[in-house]
Amino acid sequence: MSKILLYAEVTKENYLHTVLFELANKAQELAKKLDNAEVSALLISKKGLCELYKEAFINSGFDKVYVAEDNRLTYYSTELYSKIAIDIIKEVNPDIVLIGATTQGRDLAPRISSSLHTGLTADCIELDINEKGQLAATRPTFGGKLMATILCKTSPQMATVRPKVFKPASQNLVKNTEFVYVTPDIDNVNKKVEFIDFVKSLKTSVNELDSANIIVAGGKGLKNEAGFKLLKTFADCIGASVGASRGAVDMGLASTEIQIGQTGKTVSPKLYIACGISGAIQHIVGMSESDKIISINNDPDAPIFEVSDYALVGDAFEILPALIEKFKS
Ligand SMILES: Cc1cc2nc3c(=O)[nH]c(=O)nc-3n(C[C@H](O)[C@H](O)[C@H](O)COP(=O)(O)OP(=O)(O)OC[C@H]3O[C@@H](n4cnc5c(N)ncnc54)[C@H](O)[C@@H]3O)c2cc1C
Repeated sequence: MSKILLYAEVTKENYLHTVLFELANKAQELAKKLDNAEVSALLISKKGLCELYKEAFINSGFDKVYVAEDNRLTYYSTELYSKIAIDIIKEVNPDIVLIGATTQGRDLAPRISSSLHTGLTADCIELDINEKGQLAATRPTFGGKLMATILCKTSPQMATVRPKVFKPASQNLVKNTEFVYVTPDIDNVNKKVEFIDFVKSLKTSVNELDSANIIVAGGKGLKNEAGFKLLKTFADCIGASVGASRGAVDMGLASTEIQIGQTGKTVSPKLYIACGISGAIQHIVGMSESDKIISINNDPDAPIFEVSDYALVGDAFEILPALIEKFKS
């Protein structure tokens, strides 16, 4: 029987990262194409955490959950976590290993793949199983101008996937999940890095963007600081978070933390409003999963309109003040 193993990332606040549920949903689809492969999760955490999230695992369609708990694992450590993950992967021998392309996942995945001498396709935006039963992992390449589907010649076939690329299941996929507790073998790990403390970032916009229901994003078409101020006023009116294209970031109108796209964040809000953004593929890959997209652009042929549900063709400096006035009243 084929096996798919997902890494269940735990955030520093001790939550399961939502990318696990997105991957779990996709894994069910892949499993069906592999004659109902076993879908399991790997949880590495402080003691007692699995108990808190048992329901979540059971409701997400996992056949098994491998649990390595130890209070030395309270915070993510590259050395300890990769040692445990590698030990368990060697034992379980999965055909496919999927990890969220988060900061933690991007650190962990290459450690595992290089140690196991296997291939890793990073930052995927689509996964499938080809006619030969291999993982077909798709990611942007050549600066986002092409999509490359990459096959891995070695086993396990590994991939990291950006959060928000897949949707979590819309309903519970209850399974009779088996929880396999593993004693972590970490006494002799030569730790070169010691965790001391977390220092809170002064910028909170990234997190806001991650969970925002509405995002208003500005591009080069907003031209100057006054244009972005207008955008911010509009965002405040409708309770939206502000995002930006790289064009706007490069002009110094917005910080890189709020850049959306291939080299920025991937978002999937309920509503995405693009103002003065042309719709380059590198931007589209970061926002096309939004439920509804409205675009404001003075060029009727702007590529952004091809992915938009509603097109407002006109000058953002006229449309935004009109919308602000309407919403304020
Ligand atoms: C490797 C690589 C990675 C990249 N990563 C990203 C990424 O993560 N995110 C990203 O966004 N880009 C990324 N890019 C850049 C991308 O290719 C585009 O250059 C960028 O998205 C363009 O930004 P823009 O749409 O704001 O600017 P432009 O393409 O210049 O578009 C401005 C738009 O504003 C419209 N406009 C002008 N005036 C007005 C007005 N008064 N009212 C209304 N509309 C108006 C214009 O018609 C035009 O469509 C990347 C590029 C490369 C090579």
